[in-house]
Amino acid sequence: MSTVVQQTPSDRPGTAAESRRPRPSRAEAEAAVRTLLAWAGDDPEREGLRETPERVVRAYEEFFAGYRDDPVEVLGTTFEETGGYDELVVLRDIRVESHCEHHIVPILGVAHVGYLPTGRVVGISKLARVVEVFARRLQSQEMLTVQIASAIERALAPRGVGVVIEAAHQCVTTRGIRKPGVSMVTSRLLGALRDDPMAKNEFLLRTGTRSAAAR
Ligand SMILES: [Zn+2]
Repeated sequence: MSTVVQQTPSDRPGTAAESRRPRPSRAEAEAAVRTLLAWAGDDPEREGLRETPERVVRAYEEFFAGYRDDPVEVLGTTFEETGGYDELVVLRDIRVESHCEHHIVPILGVAHVGYLPTGRVVGISKLARVVEVFARRLQSQEMLTVQIASAIERALAPRGVGVVIEAAHQCVTTRGIRKPGVSMVTSRLLGALRDDPMAKNEFLLRTGTRSAAAR
């Protein structure tokens, strides 16, 4: 049986920003890219760069597609026929491709997401989708971690939620202090996965992040 759960409005930073100021036109966005190309020291009119503003704007549509999606709606269809299953559900190694809000350069890594169901579960592809919706926005890794956990908590009202993200930030590896190989681990544990040491331990073991997250 499938039920659609009524949701309270989710936090959608993009939507709020959109309602405050009108979205620039595609031509305006392309002109802004041409300005950046010229500012970098190149000639936006040379052959190799002539189509670049158009391509960059199209790429932005992909990179930031998450502003057009509501993560709680993604999780809205849940299943109550679980055979009484109430143990931990974990989805490991969900690819994270996001962009840091400070430099608009990639944050690349993996997310592990888990929850302790109370009578209803969600399709596993939906857990991966909710990671993608938030990742395809301008982010900090901390904010991304918290937003994913909060959306799952609101949509499923589970006994506990755990999100761990391990990612490398190209703003650290390719610019500024230039430290290749550095990755950051963030976690957000809610409910029983925070308060019950056994549940927490099981989540960290299953995600393979026990040593990392315990630091
Ligand atoms: Zn950055």
